Amino acid sequence: MSQTAPPTGSVEQICDADLTSLNTLRLPARAHRLARPNTLDALSQVLAERNPAEPLFVIGEGSNLVIRSDLPGLTLSLAIDGMAQVKEDDTHVWVAAGAGVHWDDLVAWTVEQGWQGLENLSLIPGTAGAAPFQNIGAYGVELSQVLEQVTVMDVVTAQVDHFAGHECEFSYRDSRFKSGDRGRYIITGIELRLNKIPQCNVSYGPLQARFGHLSQADISPAAVREHVIAVRQSKLPDPAVLANAGSFFKNPVVTKEQGDALKMRFADVVAYAQEDGVKLAAGWLIEQAGWKGKRLGPVGMHSEQALVLVNHGGATSADVVALAEAVCADVLAMFGVSLEQEPVLLP
Ligand SMILES: Cc1cc2nc3c(=O)[nH]c(=O)nc-3n(C[C@H](O)[C@H](O)[C@H](O)COP(=O)(O)OP(=O)(O)OC[C@H]3O[C@@H](n4cnc5c(N)ncnc54)[C@H](O)[C@@H]3O)c2cc1C
Repeated sequence: MSQTAPPTGSVEQICDADLTSLNTLRLPARAHRLARPNTLDALSQVLAERNPAEPLFVIGEGSNLVIRSDLPGLTLSLAIDGMAQVKEDDTHVWVAAGAGVHWDDLVAWTVEQGWQGLENLSLIPGTAGAAPFQNIGAYGVELSQVLEQVTVMDVVTAQVDHFAGHECEFSYRDSRFKSGDRGRYIITGIELRLNKIPQCNVSYGPLQARFGHLSQADISPAAVREHVIAVRQSKLPDPAVLANAGSFFKNPVVTKEQGDALKMRFADVVAYAQEDGVKLAAGWLIEQAGWKGKRLGPVGMHSEQALVLVNHGGATSADVVALAEAVCADVLAMFGVSLEQEPVLLP
């Protein structure tokens, strides 16, 4: 006789939830219904009970969001926890983490084990589940370089599926989850492949300056993590102190011809050659356009890091949108380059 196991897990549900403390820009908004399932079973139960006609949103820690108004329908914030080694061979370990795991806890734990691969991504806010959404990256490393697979649940069928890293259509701050399949899947977990024999990537400016003279044998993931944290803390405003959503614009990629023309006009333009053109430092463009440290009402571009839009207190999403539009217009007028916003607009 076969028996069906009862669904495991639980769902914390809040009606008319205040989202102000659940987004790092601290924009005031409410969710009609916020649910926090802590297992796959609990998530599929929430989806089964949902009216398919009602809007559905997924949020993590709200560190890459511009919430424009109250969220109708159902908002999901996954509380699926847990991180563990799932297999190993002579040179690698495979590590799995639930979508609700705080990203930097995962980085800290893997670095403590001496495993190499995540150290450059230290201190990025947010959850493990959101990390594949925009293929998080920092200090010359992107998640796609270590991501083995993503586990997802289809929002309509509640079917669980897996995508290998190469199926996720990763590119600079982008993936199928953010682009082609936007809204179709909820990411429930990730699996990463990390090195047991460290080969740290210290090619990026501040890491090169600190570690460039050392041989790989003398560079530990722990030392790289420590340095990345120190550099980030010296450069980026802490959202707990000054509300922000990190880099507000992507670094634009222009054609080689456009890049050459800009170099002729602006000898000190900060630009990096890419396979598909030239990547420009958006922070430099914004600073040249006069926005570094400048305010528009309660919002402004940060005085130390022009790429970061900050809420000095009491801002609404309209203030954020107005500033973003003003910055984009000035950069376009001065350089002929369009900036693309990085944080996601909800709803
Ligand atoms: C100070 C600061 C520094 C930052 N530095 C970096 C950096 O160096 N590099 C970088 O890449 N990013 C950076 N960010 C941006 C941000 O930390 C990342 O994008 C992070 O992955 C967002 O995680 P989150 O849990 O807060 O997601 P949220 O902001 O809550 O959500 C972001 C998007 O992901 C979707 N999403 C979230 N969880 C899931 C899920 N389980 N399934 C499907 N979709 C989901 C949401 O629907 C939304 O569209 C920074 C942000 C801040 C505030």
